[in-house]
Amino acid sequence: MAWGMIGLDRVVTVLRTLIEFGRLPHAILLTGLAGGGKNSLARALTAALNCSNPVDDCGPCGCCPSCLKIAGDIYPDLTTLAPIGRARNISIDEVRSLRQAMAFRPFEARTKVFIIREADRLGLDAGQALLKTLEEPPPDSVLILTTASEAAIPDTIRSRCFTVKVPPLPMEMISATLAGQHGMIGPEARLLAALSGGALGRALALESADTWDSWQWLNRIMGAGETPVRLTLAWEWIDKISIKKDDFTTILNLLRFWWRETIRLAVSGLEALEGPGPDPAQSCWAARLNSGVIGRIMAALARLEDSLGRSVNPELAFGNYWLTIFKSD
Ligand SMILES: [Zn+2]
Repeated sequence: MAWGMIGLDRVVTVLRTLIEFGRLPHAILLTGLAGGGKNSLARALTAALNCSNPVDDCGPCGCCPSCLKIAGDIYPDLTTLAPIGRARNISIDEVRSLRQAMAFRPFEARTKVFIIREADRLGLDAGQALLKTLEEPPPDSVLILTTASEAAIPDTIRSRCFTVKVPPLPMEMISATLAGQHGMIGPEARLLAALSGGALGRALALESADTWDSWQWLNRIMGAGETPVRLTLAWEWIDKISIKKDDFTTILNLLRFWWRETIRLAVSGLEALEGPGPDPAQSCWAARLNSGVIGRIMAALARLEDSLGRSVNPELAFGNYWLTIFKSD
């Protein structure tokens, strides 16, 4: 199986070289996009450090007891901390427990691994408590912090860690992975890749959120000829998604992307598109765009984002959006 990290060859090369020469630092900070593979990489590193039958690039074999337990989340020497609760904080008590666990000898591992996900959510006192561990790390342990907001990690912590940047993946690579390994049809794979911002995990989360289905709804609404028909379809769609969601960020991003692609189509033509290719509805709107219409659309999107951010009733916020978009059409 080796590392199994799609598109992260350079990062893997750095880590495996450090392991090979016995120079892996005791504290590693993995930075990169949310859903960009940091946690998978941390787990692959745990397996590489503890595999009983590593393949020749210091990669985990994927089938020894250690690899299997790590994959099944039952490895006794791997501990993960992540933010919990409404405040989404990592408390000082959790850091203290982690420090205590670090003091014990491993159950079966060569190297115990402690992962702190979203380390930017460490409170001030929790961060202070962690400093001591970073200054005097136990010899048989590795601490891996992950964050999507490197700037939010205090310098005192950052300077004591070896930082590894996990880069975003090219859109084509995400699209090919979604189609090849996850069986998506080409247009869906291209849409999710374009919306993912380079994070494969984000693309997969978008699949679970029925984003392709929403895209088709959007095309249906925008492509309907008469405003009353459009509005009926729009209500039907919002009604459908309101039942399932309390987070409308994905929908807002989808609306923005729909318009961005349509404007690209109008200004630069087919070649400029990033997503699944133009729907007839987009071609139709692209032909009618002018600065006045674009201004109205941008204002409607900004107002929608503001309303949703202020927890205005989503039906009302979306209703205003559609009415503005279709107003003088
Ligand atoms: Zn193994």
